[in-house]
Amino acid sequence: METLTLGTGNSQELRVAIDKAVDHLEEGSIVALPTETVYGLAANALNAEACASIFEAKQRPNFDPLIVHVSGQEMLDSVAEIPDNIADVTYTLIKEFWPGALTFILPKKEIVPDIVTSGLQTVAVRRSKNKIFAEIINSLESPIAAPSANRFGSISPTSAAAVNIELSGVIPLIIDGGACSEGVESTIIKVEPSEKKKPIIKILRPGPVTPEMLKKFGKIEKNQSHLDETSSLTSPGQLDSHYAPKTPLRVLASPDEFKLDCSKSYALLSYRGQRKDGYLELCEWSHIETLSPGSGKLPEAAVRFFYSLRKLDELGVDEIISEPIPERGIGLAIMDRLKRASHQFN
Ligand code: AMP
Ligand code: MG
Repeated sequence: METLTLGTGNSQELRVAIDKAVDHLEEGSIVALPTETVYGLAANALNAEACASIFEAKQRPNFDPLIVHVSGQEMLDSVAEIPDNIADVTYTLIKEFWPGALTFILPKKEIVPDIVTSGLQTVAVRRSKNKIFAEIINSLESPIAAPSANRFGSISPTSAAAVNIELSGVIPLIIDGGACSEGVESTIIKVEPSEKKKPIIKILRPGPVTPEMLKKFGKIEKNQSHLDETSSLTSPGQLDSHYAPKTPLRVLASPDEFKLDCSKSYALLSYRGQRKDGYLELCEWSHIETLSPGSGKLPEAAVRFFYSLRKLDELGVDEIISEPIPERGIGLAIMDRLKRASHQFN
């Protein structure tokens, strides 16, 4: 299959790209689309066969449920139930963070095909703030299922070029909307009622909407395994491979932990690229990739994270060593992905 990439650099290109994407989705085909988090591999969420093609293209095991994107309240109501006992806080969170990178786990409605939720009675729902994505879902007038547009087990793509590397020849169309503005996957939460004044907000996957941003709306519970809901369908740890580069990766909590093996080549994923952090001079790095040069701004680090990981993975070194990222704000999400990426080698 030939993969067409359409640019969106001017209004004419944008129009053509949006129309073509909507045509494909209406016909039950799959298309890679930009969102503010990472590029998504989209299908009409109500078309079970189209959603099955997502799994096929990604070579993703069927046990891993897909996130469903909606265009607003009406579409949300068509796919999910908002239980009365969490309605107030859910609507408040929607008002505060949508459109944006916050995904809710809610009881699903009949209309959502089982393949989308992997047979679960809940559905993951979000509304993207990417303008191209929003125009496409508005024109389609149907919810869109869209997991990250990479092969299963690979690094999430944050540019059309990265999608091309992952899925060229496997999908018909990629819409190039430029680099993703957030850079890591959405925060996934499950709101639960509580006897106490504040409801519970369980963070199943850390992301751009941070615990600090959520805490005034409920009592935050961090659930390190976002498989919580799906653990009966899969064995623990399987999804760690989601974020894995092919090259072994190790996160060093401190520079003293590094033991050089002279027969190996190493590349460094640095946070600020500063000597005083103690990593730059640990060895003769084949390459150093810096997430937030000089400034140490976490949002900048998030935007560059998957891009940098890909770049390091392509060098062909024996091992990638990573500095730790401060676990506050969106740094929590970056460290979560880093730990998952390193898990299988440690
Ligand atoms: P992705 O679409 O690749 O960003 O990730 C989708 C992730 O959302 C899955 O790996 C699950 O961990 C999570 N997810 C989707 N649906 C559900 C659900 N019904 N319950 C719990 N987690 C879910
Ligand atoms: Mg993914």
